[in-house]
Amino acid sequence: MSAPFLAEAALLHDELSAVRRDLHMHPEPGFQEFRTARIVAERLDALGYEVQRGVGKTGVVALLQGGQPGERTVLLRFDMDALPIQEENDVPYRSTVPGMMHACGHDAHVAIGIGVATLLARHREQLPGTIKLMFQPAEEGLGGAMAMINDGLLEHPRPDVALGLHVASNYDVGSAVVREGALLAAADHFVIVVRGQGGHGALPDQTVDAVLVAAQLIVALQTIVSRSLNPLEPGVVTVGAVHAGEAHNVIAETAELRGTIRSFSEEARALLHRRIRELAAGVAAAFGATIEVVIHRGVDPTVNAPAPTAVMRRAAAAVLGAEQIDSGFQTTGGEDFSAVLERVPGHFMMLGARSDARTGFPHHSPHFDIDEACLPLGVAILCDAAVRCLNGEHE
Ligand SMILES: [Zn+2]
Ligand SMILES: [Zn+2]
Repeated sequence: MSAPFLAEAALLHDELSAVRRDLHMHPEPGFQEFRTARIVAERLDALGYEVQRGVGKTGVVALLQGGQPGERTVLLRFDMDALPIQEENDVPYRSTVPGMMHACGHDAHVAIGIGVATLLARHREQLPGTIKLMFQPAEEGLGGAMAMINDGLLEHPRPDVALGLHVASNYDVGSAVVREGALLAAADHFVIVVRGQGGHGALPDQTVDAVLVAAQLIVALQTIVSRSLNPLEPGVVTVGAVHAGEAHNVIAETAELRGTIRSFSEEARALLHRRIRELAAGVAAAFGATIEVVIHRGVDPTVNAPAPTAVMRRAAAAVLGAEQIDSGFQTTGGEDFSAVLERVPGHFMMLGARSDARTGFPHHSPHFDIDEACLPLGVAILCDAAVRCLNGEHE
């Protein structure tokens, strides 16, 4: 199988690495990607795209009308935001912003996006349809995808299929994950406030100890996944923060628990939410406390549709070789591209970005880095998949 864009993409390696390193040195937090968005918009403008700035605050949308007749529109998505993490890498392109770092690889996504834009513009005359590029702000928990959707991302024209990717430091360069169905989880979070009755640490019988009640609830919450959820269904309930008490001889009146909930189906999600509330009510009743539970719905599961998945698999196999594609991987991480994939069928791929120990640190680690050899591979796969979709292969 030949990979039509691979040779051209390979020639972009140095340029895309330079783009990525520049972005890496100048990371910007969600909804503040002003410099990044300006660079993106200027490059797309120069390539002949019809560019719309300020979509979802700092997002950029760009259209390219192909030279051949065709009614289809293919959306390609790239996120741009960095994270509030102090970079620990000693590299020439180290972050110049204290406490801010591209620790998830979104700098690489922007570079890949510019590479895709470059090659598709170069082949514009042969494209039967419309390319719509989505450069998204604020993927890391702030709802950038939804902000762009609310600003009309999916209208004029409405995409027929949506494609995206994420670099992955747990996969070697030259491999990828192309999975049908749920790839990433729904990610919700909760705040639980336990109210007891404070008092003297030496006179516990005159109090309702919020710390003890919180401790009972923390243990009880661990039974949700182990005893209430179908064992064949993935799920996570994590209490990540506990705040209570100030002094060794005072019984705390309140305790606050914060945590995250991960699930892959609405049924499992509803069960996890319901059991958290039921256990809180039961523990409160048992100990004479009151417990308030607030659950914030976050991103929905990222679900890859069958036909676009088949297209992405063909494109990835053409570039990387079929034996390099993992179809089974699933992760309890979350991703807000799910908001697009709920409205438009499509595929979200994981692209291997590791080549040694230095590039194998987990995402969101202060040591996170990638092997830039993955950049041209991502460009070639997305260009190939986009052209296949313009030709209706995903239908
Ligand atoms: Zn991330
Ligand atoms: Zn990410």
